[in-house]
Amino acid sequence: MGVQLHRTTTEPQAVAGSAGPHSARRPLPLAAAVWLLLSCPAWALNVQRLEPAEVETLQSILKAVEPSITAKKHDGTANLLTWQALYEPLTPEQRAFLDEFRALRAATLGATSHYFGETATAPDLVPVGSEQVLKNGVFTPLDPQALPRPVFEAYQKMMAAMQAELGKRLYVESGYRSSAYQLYLFLFYLPKHDHSITETNRFVALPGHSEHGYPPRQAIDFINADGINGEEHPEEFEALPEYRWLQERAKDFGFVISYPRDNPYHTAFEPWHWHYEGPGPPS
Ligand SMILES: [Zn+2]
Repeated sequence: MGVQLHRTTTEPQAVAGSAGPHSARRPLPLAAAVWLLLSCPAWALNVQRLEPAEVETLQSILKAVEPSITAKKHDGTANLLTWQALYEPLTPEQRAFLDEFRALRAATLGATSHYFGETATAPDLVPVGSEQVLKNGVFTPLDPQALPRPVFEAYQKMMAAMQAELGKRLYVESGYRSSAYQLYLFLFYLPKHDHSITETNRFVALPGHSEHGYPPRQAIDFINADGINGEEHPEEFEALPEYRWLQERAKDFGFVISYPRDNPYHTAFEPWHWHYEGPGPPS
């Protein structure tokens, strides 16, 4: 692993060096080296289960980025984390390790989740506003969230209808997330899934694969007023009248469930995760 990381790290220098004075004297070995560098697969990580050295690198990265992530959670900007901010406290070796994750594609992990591409900058977002739900009997503020404007407006309309028809509403536990924050989440959850990339991918999308980071198909994770989000037990959210209402009515507001039971994407059942597809044909 260490060799592979080093190889990725030194790649740009080696390529730049091919035009230097050494290439004139010894073109063949250098050309061979460059060929080797460029031809090696980007997914050299052990995706079934990280090797001990990879686990060590992961732990060192989580430790290095924790202070800035915690600070951004406090000021409500963690969801908008940039690549620059994520990479800033890391060594070249740690950065190369993240590069390997960014090169992963779900298709190579036996999953079929779509690759949308990474977002470089945040789109035009509207803050959802401070919301709080009951957690263990105590009103608890949700982390600040933001949504692309059309999605926010559709969400508001849908909640007004839910309130009128059901006397209840749902709250946004997670809206837009940058690709860099998506990668941080993936790394954060890896140890909870036995350091298996393929297993973690059933629960957390890789960067570039999440509807949370793709405004044309923006996802919302809902939580109800009693703090039920289904994260530990999806059937708890599935049993909510709010969920049954969504099944009946969400489509009228342009929202569609992404990962129903037994979905073909090799993704776990997520009754709380709905994405926006825009207004449908007039009924
Ligand atoms: Zn989600």
